[in-house]
Amino acid sequence: MLEEEIDAMNKSTNVEEREARLTAVRRCLLTWNIPAILITSPANRRWLSGFTGSAGSLLVTADQALLATDFRYWEQAQAEAPTFTLFRHNRTDDANKQYLAAAGVTAVGLEANHTTLSEAENLRKIPHVTWKPIAPTLEPLRRVKSASELAKIRAAAAITDQAMALVPQLARPGMTERALAWELDKAMHEAGAECPAFDTLVASGPNAALPHHHPGERPLQSGDSLIVDMGAQVGGYKSDMTRTFFLGTEPDDTFRQIFDVVEAAQTAVRRFAKPGQNAREVDSLGRDVIRQAGYGDFFGHGLGHGVGLDIHEEPLFSFNPTAQGHQLASGMVVTVEPGIYRPGWGGIRLEDLFLVTEQGLEAISQCPHTAVIPL
Ligand code: ZN
Ligand code: ZN
Repeated sequence: MLEEEIDAMNKSTNVEEREARLTAVRRCLLTWNIPAILITSPANRRWLSGFTGSAGSLLVTADQALLATDFRYWEQAQAEAPTFTLFRHNRTDDANKQYLAAAGVTAVGLEANHTTLSEAENLRKIPHVTWKPIAPTLEPLRRVKSASELAKIRAAAAITDQAMALVPQLARPGMTERALAWELDKAMHEAGAECPAFDTLVASGPNAALPHHHPGERPLQSGDSLIVDMGAQVGGYKSDMTRTFFLGTEPDDTFRQIFDVVEAAQTAVRRFAKPGQNAREVDSLGRDVIRQAGYGDFFGHGLGHGVGLDIHEEPLFSFNPTAQGHQLASGMVVTVEPGIYRPGWGGIRLEDLFLVTEQGLEAISQCPHTAVIPL
């Protein structure tokens, strides 16, 4: 992708869209029953204001929208966040106090899931201000993607497709996991990614039994199963995809059998997931297939998650109570990533990115589920 195209995409979230987001947050203030909210988490800050800098906070009230940042970002903040009034500070201890005084607020919500204990203690020292922990804050508003957000995710997914398609040419016995991960990162960069969406995961042989293995010095070997989990980032938005390959001409029966179960689990979700289902219902669409095949104990993570400015965001498809209340709705972008991991043997995971539509799931990832890399 051309650099100018990506640049244009970054700027394409227009002022009306930002204002609509601000209105939505102001509606939330009524639900939270507070006159103001302090937004400090990077993804929420960027989604609401457009500001991409690494330091700063937003303060939103019924009639004010302030963005506080230090001198490194003043120019950038004004250009990126025209719907916000810039509050300039110089990182002094009193900065937050002056900021709240400028807005004239005395009761403020803080992002409980994104504030450290020491940050909260410092905020509590500000006289005449009471704090109310809020969680989640803007995450539910970010679940459904706008057209401009979707365009960035699609671009990131297309880059990931392209890089993943290179694995059968790149992966050879003797090459280390780390070397393969580096080649894939380079391929994404050359195809126009800002950066990888997360640390590219390459797990081979017994390492493939570890769902979050970090690529190391193990050389790939004939007969390995090979898990590659990667994504690209475009305009701040991410993509996420996993493929599992077999290195060699003839996969053993275990590989074939487990691969088919994992693929059947994904197909079931693809076929039966619909708007309105809750996280647990979606999770069990895939989990039940794995359980019925006798591998229930070997699938220990959630079935999938939303993807956007964060790599893991709402909705989360899980049997976990944290996902309670996460419902599938048209316009969400989600992964479906069933996996089976057997300690000592290896593992198989397939992960694709989908757009939720009224009709069900529409694939965003296009790379085929190629399983065998003949050597
Ligand atoms: Zn994922
Ligand atoms: Zn992934």
